[in-house]
Amino acid sequence: MTTYLKELLLGLYLLSHYDYYLKRLIDLGGGVPLLLFAGVFGILLATLWLTAYIRSTAIRYLFALLFFASTLFFDVYTRVTADYLTYSTFVSLIYSGGFIDEALYQYRASVFLAAVGALPLLFGIALAPRRRLPLSSYALVAAPLCGVLLLTGILFVRSGEGARGLPAMYTPLVYLNLFAYEAASSTVGPRETVSLPRHGQAVGNDIVLIVDESVSGNYLDINVEHGVHSSLGQAYPGVSIYNYGYAASIANCSADTNVTLRYGGTRSDYLRINSTMPSIWQYARKAGLRTVYIDAQRTGGRLQNLMSKSERQEIDEFVQFNQTPVRDRDMAAAQKLIELLNNDTPELVYLNKVGAHFPVHDKYPDDFLVYRPALSRGQYADVSDTGERYDFGGQVEDWVRYRNAYKNTLLWNVGEFFARVFSQARLDNAVLIYTSDHGQDLHERGNPGVDTHCGGDPVVEEGLVPLVVIQGNGLHTLDWPRELAGNKDRSSHYNIFPTLLQLMGYDLTALQTIYGKSLSQHTEDEFTFNTRFNARLGEKPNWKHIDLKEVVTPTLQ
Ligand SMILES: [Zn+2]
Repeated sequence: MTTYLKELLLGLYLLSHYDYYLKRLIDLGGGVPLLLFAGVFGILLATLWLTAYIRSTAIRYLFALLFFASTLFFDVYTRVTADYLTYSTFVSLIYSGGFIDEALYQYRASVFLAAVGALPLLFGIALAPRRRLPLSSYALVAAPLCGVLLLTGILFVRSGEGARGLPAMYTPLVYLNLFAYEAASSTVGPRETVSLPRHGQAVGNDIVLIVDESVSGNYLDINVEHGVHSSLGQAYPGVSIYNYGYAASIANCSADTNVTLRYGGTRSDYLRINSTMPSIWQYARKAGLRTVYIDAQRTGGRLQNLMSKSERQEIDEFVQFNQTPVRDRDMAAAQKLIELLNNDTPELVYLNKVGAHFPVHDKYPDDFLVYRPALSRGQYADVSDTGERYDFGGQVEDWVRYRNAYKNTLLWNVGEFFARVFSQARLDNAVLIYTSDHGQDLHERGNPGVDTHCGGDPVVEEGLVPLVVIQGNGLHTLDWPRELAGNKDRSSHYNIFPTLLQLMGYDLTALQTIYGKSLSQHTEDEFTFNTRFNARLGEKPNWKHIDLKEVVTPTLQ
């Protein structure tokens, strides 16, 4: 019995986590992927077993503790979030290390249970071996190292993916290896402070970036004949509106675009810039602006779009609308924006609107039910976004109703939003840039599916967004008209961050070498969006070019 005590303990540990391994087996189904998975699983199990027979007590204890700590980390995360620990989450967790005391206290019950559950692994490795395996001492010590190296290699070429369902005690150790590699190649690292040179006094006007949600550039009246009324196509006294037409988005997923708009990542260097360079808030504060973030999508202080708690601390006023129904949140955002434009404090305002994310059944009031037939009403009265699909089968006729509901939503969340801003806000001392995080696949070509964005093989419209600059006539900032004709339908989200910095008085030549061209220059943009944004380690991003000849526009209702 005691001869096989190690095997019993290790077996007990693996059995107690059988659901994790079994789930992966079921997901894999069969064929070559299953064979490869089984092969790697077998190797990792063998190297773990050999680890338990390392003769040097000190080295065996060391590995026992390492594997114990690693599995504990993995198990606590799984217990707390009911989710698989991915590599990018692991990196975020490392950077939020300052909150570890808080987390340990808050989740102490989960930590305790996971620790008890991992004891068989700890003792299974640590106990003195009762048998001597016919292998050299060096071979036994090399075994766990080979296991970790093998998995590190696999995850490297797969951008951190590939450990799912494999013996979990290896996963955080391997993530740590990948992280060390990224830290050494500076795609991760501590955040820098502002070092760009600036000209002039503190900024004396408001600078506003309005980022709409899921508003496709080809559905607004400023760009197409039968587009939805946006209130951006008419003249208002004392205000100039410069329409840059169609622009390319950064990516076709909300978080990827938003984090890049806040940190200024470029097509060639976004991983490094987004994770190590200063945020838009840091640049704004240095330029004398108060920083305001309005998030109309989330409530209760929850952060989204890859915003960290430390970024949150760079924001002077953090606004969410906890008590307002989803349908009215963009109007609440308009009201808040009007207040900020009408106070006499120069501010940088970044606004994430509710816009037109799925579900769009109930994102507009009855008075705005203009386009018919629309999706049935009443099921999603207070849902900002969801993956759920009630009354929606993704058939051709479903998409007809979807597009009508979508247009009604735009009428309210874009048309009415701007109507209120233009009628009530003082715009004489403000520059506003309006865009959306990404476009939409509204299945106009009859292509099947229920998704509108964020997939790996998107249509061109998913990367097609509006880009508009609004400015009070008395204010002299950048020479917008100079390059407008050349930049219209040819610029992208990547031009927004440099434009904001230039508006804040940062030196154009200096900022351009890091962040690229501002809208005041001939942008000569590549007009592509990224369909594989999370391309770290061995993977490369995937750029989709938008050919405007392919773009489908709405027909007359
Ligand atoms: Zn989005």
